[in-house]
Amino acid sequence: MGFFDRTHAEPNVKRETQKVKRETINKKTAKELPIVSPFTVHRSHKSPDKFHDECAVFGIYGHKEAANLTYLGLYALQHRGQEASGIVSGDGEQFYVHKGKGLVADIYNPQALDQLLGSMAIGHNRYSTAGGNDLKNVQPFSVNFAFGNLALAHNGNLINAQVLRHELEAYGAIFQSTSDSEVIIHLIAHSRADTLLARIIDALSQVRGAFSIVLQTDEGIIAVRDPHGFRPLCLGRLGNTYLVASETCAFDLLGAEIVREIEPGELVVLSDKGVTSYKPFAPASPAMCVFEYVYFARPDSKIFGANAVYSTRKALGRQLAKESSVPADIVIPVPDSGVPASLGYAEGAGIPFELGLIRNHYVGRTFIEPEQSIRHFGVKVKLNAVPEVLEGKRVIVVDDSLVRGTTSRKIVKMLRNAGAKEVHMRISSPPIISPCFYGIDTPTKKELIASSHTTEEIRKYITADSLAYLSLDGMLNASPGTPSQYCNACFTERYPIPLTRAEEWQLGLFEPSI
Ligand code: SF4
Repeated sequence: MGFFDRTHAEPNVKRETQKVKRETINKKTAKELPIVSPFTVHRSHKSPDKFHDECAVFGIYGHKEAANLTYLGLYALQHRGQEASGIVSGDGEQFYVHKGKGLVADIYNPQALDQLLGSMAIGHNRYSTAGGNDLKNVQPFSVNFAFGNLALAHNGNLINAQVLRHELEAYGAIFQSTSDSEVIIHLIAHSRADTLLARIIDALSQVRGAFSIVLQTDEGIIAVRDPHGFRPLCLGRLGNTYLVASETCAFDLLGAEIVREIEPGELVVLSDKGVTSYKPFAPASPAMCVFEYVYFARPDSKIFGANAVYSTRKALGRQLAKESSVPADIVIPVPDSGVPASLGYAEGAGIPFELGLIRNHYVGRTFIEPEQSIRHFGVKVKLNAVPEVLEGKRVIVVDDSLVRGTTSRKIVKMLRNAGAKEVHMRISSPPIISPCFYGIDTPTKKELIASSHTTEEIRKYITADSLAYLSLDGMLNASPGTPSQYCNACFTERYPIPLTRAEEWQLGLFEPSI
């Protein structure tokens, strides 16, 4: 009897106490636990002048504290999505769900986690576009169908989701959300394959785009990465327990060790049998997102073949110094994301590193904005200049990316007001000229300042004394591995998966997944 052929899962962790607990919960509530946390506070840390990440996924099988560890994993992965979060746990017979809007720390509490029974769990942190932060779109999605319980958490974006959705609706599918990820659930349900595993493979063979997915069934956890490998997905171990996460920083918090990366096109099953690996998809050219190194991933993570993000970011800064050195007294970062590149720049240029801007880490959307009379209030809430560092200095300020240019303009003014004699802006990635279709929330092409303006025009706009970007070759050569293994479409418009006309149309309508 093969995996997922069974109608009931074999227990691998004693379920007796959980059964008693479950009966108590069932008396009190319906099968699905309350979906909205009473502790939800709506806050956002979004910057209008950055690309926005995407999502985080996490999964664990065979641990009596599965839900608690998933909560901690999501806590460590908060940077990948701050609008909503959800956990679905399972005990082999029943799933337990808790979701809410806001930050991980706001959504879960000990009582909620205590009701997430079972020795397996998956979790998801969501970032959503404006207007798309509806509770119905909060993942993991969970359903009960002919093959038992199934839950799904997705990081990425499916470029043919709308086309598939229309086809599925023509066959009678009723969608509960506007997320592209739900298409996968329907494709699994509609598949004619014999086993659940074969149905999942059949479904994922039909979607195009980026996916790092974690699924939970009554019998185990399945982690899958698309054949191009756009988004990271890692396998870890905690004693005898296996877990998967978008980034390794989640393992560090749990004291788990990194086993390896889930390879592009690989499907891994975590079950009573340990870890089973499959390669069910046709191979494709690698297209790992180079922006994960530039900005998205946490600097203490290791991604794309266990390469350290921190040292790669520093290497980008060193390369930038090599390409665009300018006489200056100090190098300062735009905190926090610009810090490693700035350290690399200072090292490469032999110029002292200083902290000329201080970030307030506790900014949310909960503050009340004053009248227009306070100039540059938005950026001042987050960043403040340090006059004793900047006074009379020629300053090189390093940021990881420049999207619209509005924040850079405010930063330059803030530095000058604090006494900087010269301000030279350096960006540790090339000019962004095109949107991303693979799971990153980006402004439209016309909102990307570099899509329609030269570097000199942008320099004038941000009012810097000089502006320089890292070259494309410089970025790719400073990143680990070979340049051809990375997607760089937002810098080059060379998309690894070309869009059909129908897909171009759908991307305007379908809410990007994350
Ligand atoms: S287009 Fe840019 S952000 Fe999107 S996957 Fe490619 S490199 Fe990453």
